[in-house]
Amino acid sequence: MLVVVGAMVAVAAGVAVAVAQGSGHTGTVSAVTANTSPGLPAAMAPGRTTTTPPKTKKPPTVDPATQRQVRRMIAANAIFVKGGTRGRLVALTFDDGPSIYTPRLVRELRQLKAPATFFEIGSQIHRYAKLVANMSKLGFPIEDHTWNHPDLTRLSSTQVQGQLLWTKNAIFKATHAYPQFFRPPYGAQSARVRHTAGGLGMVTTVWSIDTRDWSRPGTASVIHAAEQVRAGGIVLMHDGGGNRSETVAAVPIVVRYLRTHGYTLVTIPQLLTKAPPKSSTMWLSAKGGG
Ligand SMILES: [Zn+2]
Repeated sequence: MLVVVGAMVAVAAGVAVAVAQGSGHTGTVSAVTANTSPGLPAAMAPGRTTTTPPKTKKPPTVDPATQRQVRRMIAANAIFVKGGTRGRLVALTFDDGPSIYTPRLVRELRQLKAPATFFEIGSQIHRYAKLVANMSKLGFPIEDHTWNHPDLTRLSSTQVQGQLLWTKNAIFKATHAYPQFFRPPYGAQSARVRHTAGGLGMVTTVWSIDTRDWSRPGTASVIHAAEQVRAGGIVLMHDGGGNRSETVAAVPIVVRYLRTHGYTLVTIPQLLTKAPPKSSTMWLSAKGGG
């Protein structure tokens, strides 16, 4: 532990600055510092775990096929925008939670037996720790959407690392599983941001369809946007960041529409494994929502 104290302080300082620039979640900083036990040099090795896992009865299960594809994407410093067309797979994703709307959404998804992936904000996880643990047990992957939603392209490398690492640790603490995917807020990313995420074992993942549900355009508009997705597509929606009633109302209709039209819903890890993107699509970039 002693040799990494300096690095830990550097990360803590980086996040503290980022938090100060953000929306005032400073009250949670010290609590997370106590949970941070990584050595940063190890964090730079792609695909490695970067924390000493807390002792747990049930070790996290990692699908080797997913892990292989994750390593491939990280090695290419690629961005995951959409999968291949094989199997007509579609991934629904929800950002900015957990929030008070997340349980309603999870209930809808469970009733429909519809897989979905959640990119969560680290600073909100402790408040919903039981919910997040339960979602993970139910098979909803919990992935990294930074600590407090900054534009990462405006932060230093140390701050970016802190944003991702603290969230990764918070997810592990709640679920006993490490996130393998990272989504940059606003889709704002760069080679440097992707490299940092890769160093923490996560693939930078955006979307091919932005429903703009965060702007509350009306349930019909959210449904119409989501229905434009095609095979291999990743749909962006939100379960936090404001009133998400429109999203919750839209999801069952979207799920039924997509199934009626021959699509199979999968999680982001499943999409990457069952329909890996062709290298030509790995570099497409996305802007907007997130
Ligand atoms: Zn977001």
